[in-house]
Amino acid sequence: MEDDGICMQCHATEGFSDASAEGVDSGYGSRHDTSSFVWLRQRSAAHGVLCDQCLDRLVESGDLAKYADRRGPLAHLPDTVLGAVFVLGADYGNRFVAAARLMDSGDTSAAAALPARWQRRRKPLRTEDAAWLPAMALERCFASGFPPLEADPLRAGILAALAAGITTPAGLVDGALDASCRRFLGMLNADRDGYADG
Ligand SMILES: [Zn+2]
Repeated sequence: MEDDGICMQCHATEGFSDASAEGVDSGYGSRHDTSSFVWLRQRSAAHGVLCDQCLDRLVESGDLAKYADRRGPLAHLPDTVLGAVFVLGADYGNRFVAAARLMDSGDTSAAAALPARWQRRRKPLRTEDAAWLPAMALERCFASGFPPLEADPLRAGILAALAAGITTPAGLVDGALDASCRRFLGMLNADRDGYADG
C-alpha cells in the first residue's frame, strides 16, 4: 500500500510522490513538490510511492517526463511528451464518460473506472452523481488561471475525449485518438512556425 510511504522501487527510502499507471504526482516532502510526470515508456501498473532518487532515475532514463508544476503545464515540451500527455488526458475523458454510462445503468463498479487521481480525492460516488461525472472532468479544464488550450495537452485530451463521448460510447480511442493527437500536435507546430515567421 502507498500509505506506508516506502518507495516501491528501492524499498529502502521514504517516498513523497504518488505513482500509478497514469503517471507520477509529487507531494509535500519531495524536491519536486506539485510537479506532475507522464510515463513515456515503462508504465507502472502498480500504485505506490516513489522516492526522489528513483523518480530522478526514471526521468533520466526517459521513462518519465515532467509536464506540469504549480504554475501549470510547462512551456516548450517536445512532441513526444505533449503527445503522451494528450493521450493521458483523452484516457481521463474516456474514463469519465465510461463511468457516467455505468452509473446511469446502476452499475456500482463505476467508481473504479474513474482516473486514480480523482478516486484519491473524491468521496464515494452516488448514483445521482452520474450526470456530474463529465462535469467533474470539465472542472479540471476550466479552473481559473489555466493557460490557453493549446498550452495544456492534458486538458486538450480530456476535452477531445468528452466531445467524442457525446457520439461514441468508447470515447476517443484507437485510430481516432491517434488522428486527434496528430491534429493537436500539428496545430501546436503550426502556431510555433507562425510565430517564428512573424
Ligand atoms: Zn526509491
